[in-house]
Order: sequence, then structure tokens, then C-alpha cells
Amino acid sequence: MNRRRRIYEGKAKILYEGPEPGTLVQHFKDDATAFNKKKHQIVDGKGVLNNRISEYIFSNLNDMGIPTHFIRRLNMREQLIREVEIIPLEVVVRNVAAGSLSERLGIDEGTPLPRSIIEFYYKNDELGDPMVSEEHITAFGWANPQEMDDIMSLAIRVNDFLCGLFLGVGIRLVDFKMECGRLYENDMVRIVVADEISPDSCRLWDMTSNEKLDKDRFRRDMGGLLEAYQEVARRLGLLNSNERVTGTGPVLVQ
Ligand code: UDP
Repeated sequence: MNRRRRIYEGKAKILYEGPEPGTLVQHFKDDATAFNKKKHQIVDGKGVLNNRISEYIFSNLNDMGIPTHFIRRLNMREQLIREVEIIPLEVVVRNVAAGSLSERLGIDEGTPLPRSIIEFYYKNDELGDPMVSEEHITAFGWANPQEMDDIMSLAIRVNDFLCGLFLGVGIRLVDFKMECGRLYENDMVRIVVADEISPDSCRLWDMTSNEKLDKDRFRRDMGGLLEAYQEVARRLGLLNSNERVTGTGPVLVQ
């Protein structure tokens, strides 16, 4: 047995060298962190759920012709992905006011926005991921204007898809964060959706009760994080309705 080469370890995931050049293995951990790692907890089974939910979303995006880094899920905690050059931006798309937008602009949480709003944050833990504009991004060379057009059009397409997907299972997509990467293929380079899309990176509210089914349960000490992620997976048809996650993680359908 050889030890795999670890390329990168983040807050909730580890990237390992993949089986072929140009591929990586993305491993989902059970760590929940918030407020730039000031708050940290292990939630048994969270990585398994995020791996499965993110797989479901990314395979649908691929099938719709929205390019992503995702190739296939390998096991309960890992997926095979294409190696991309990550653009150091968090792209946030909002449909309903919540979180930092509500705080910054004094708009009540839950207020529907007149139209979807795209925001950019510079990925830098030391600076606490500051919000930046397209001007900063192109001036500092994090992405060029053509790439920004591609990123915004991807963000809108992903938002439309996710809104519809969640609407169909009684969930309101309040906002979400996505990341993009440059995929190099021969002498071509294109922008693809990367990282993960899961209840860790979305705000998901039950359509009728407004119950939070996302990481705000952890950020705001509400408890029931795993149960909420499980409910999202169950509604998407990824878990049997009567399954409960205990220490060892859920048993998955398929
Ligand atoms: N988000 C994320 N990672 C971050 C910051 C935000 O996945 O480092 C997601 C968050 O879950 C929410 C959306 O981006 O779905 C908007 O987050 P917001 O700017 O309101 O920040 P927060 O209130 O979470 O600090």
C-alpha cells in the first residue's frame, strides 16, 4: 500500500493526487467550521452527506452542459475531479436577503431581492475573505474581463438550476457560494464550476416553515445540523426516508 500524496488540506476537504495526470481525489471531512475557523466541531456523517449531495448537483450540471470539475463519485467520502487552477474568488449568488447582506445593508432576513445579485469575495483567510468588485478582480489580475463574463454567466445558470431543483422539493434557495477554476485542455482553457455545492455553501429554507436546512444551524448554534443535511438529501431522493445517520454515517441509496 502506498500513501497517497496530499496536495491540499482545507477546512472541510482534502485534495489528493488522482489516479491519472490531470485528476485529483476530493475527500469530504466531517469538520464544520465557521467565522474563519474560530468555531469548529466534528459532525459525524456530514462529509458523507455533502459528498453525495454535491455529486448529485454537479452531475446534473454536467448533464445540462454546465461545465464542472466533477468526474464521478468514488466512495462514501471521495470523488474524482479534474485538476483546475482555482480562481481565488467566492462567487455568491443571492435570491433572498440573509447573512452578511442583511447585516451590511440593514435589510431584514427573508426579504426577497428584486433580482438575483452576484457578489465576489477574495479568498484569503488572513483578510477574512473581503468583498471585492469586478474592478479589483481585473485590476489585480485574479481573473480577466472575459473570464468574469464566463463566471457571471455560469453563476446565473447554476442559480437557475438550483432554484428549480430545490423548489421542486419544497426548499427555497436563499443564496449560495460557488467557486470556479481554469481547466486546461491541450491549448484551450475554459472556466468550470469547481469545489462543492452542498448545505455547507448554500442557504436552504423549507418553503412552508422557513426552517433552516443548512450550515446556519451550526453558525447560529441551533443544533440539528446533521438532521437538516439528511433532510435535504432525503428530499433529493438520495436517502431512504426512514434512515437515520448515526456515528458511522448514512447508508446511501444506489
Ligand atoms: N458562504 C460560504 N463560504 C464562505 C462564506 C459564505 O459557503 O466562506 C456561503 C454561505 O453559506 C451563504 C452564502 O455564501 O450561503 C452567503 O454568505 P454570506 O455572505 O451571507 O456570509 P455569512 O453570513 O455566511 O458569513
